[in-house]
Amino acid sequence: MTLEKTAAEARACTLCAAHLPLGPRPILRVSTTARLLITSQAPGTAAHVTGTPFNDPSGVRLRDWLGLTEDQFYDGTKLAILPMGLCYPGRLPQGGDLPPRPECAPLWHTRLLPLLPTIRLTLLVGTYAIAHTIGPGPMTNHVQNFRQHLPKYFPLPHPSWRTIGWAKRNPWFEEDVLPALKKEVTALFS
Ligand code: SF4
Repeated sequence: MTLEKTAAEARACTLCAAHLPLGPRPILRVSTTARLLITSQAPGTAAHVTGTPFNDPSGVRLRDWLGLTEDQFYDGTKLAILPMGLCYPGRLPQGGDLPPRPECAPLWHTRLLPLLPTIRLTLLVGTYAIAHTIGPGPMTNHVQNFRQHLPKYFPLPHPSWRTIGWAKRNPWFEEDVLPALKKEVTALFS
């Protein structure tokens, strides 16, 4: 099965439609040439409406962390995006989005990742992507120990507004992690 066909099947997926308040709209960006992969959480409502991932303040923050312009970030020949849940999962009663649908990554990551042979570095953005790939444990510890997972993985917090306070409490993130992250990403884009 080619990447193109498998991605088309993923975009037509309705497996967990009964659990999705806005209905299925799988959002992914994959190519056979991308060297950087972002494995994120799940699309938010803005991405659900527009079909464009990270076109919100979280995306602005993530691009700033990576040192990428919008044009670079959305250049699908260089950067792939595959969330843990491909569709918007809905809201928690207390605020914030529900977790990515649990059936999604076992179905689509399993089929799509082997079809991305040029990926050199995967950014694990948020607790769900980190736990799925690296294993359990506090997100903060995984991010602080990011060098253990290079050159294949780079764990990161989700770039939501909540990260602003977290980064203030963990100054090593801006002092140590972000410069190293920019260096890794720049090397892949050069
Ligand atoms: S969240 Fe994943 S499994 Fe559920 S409908 Fe969307 S693509 Fe299919």
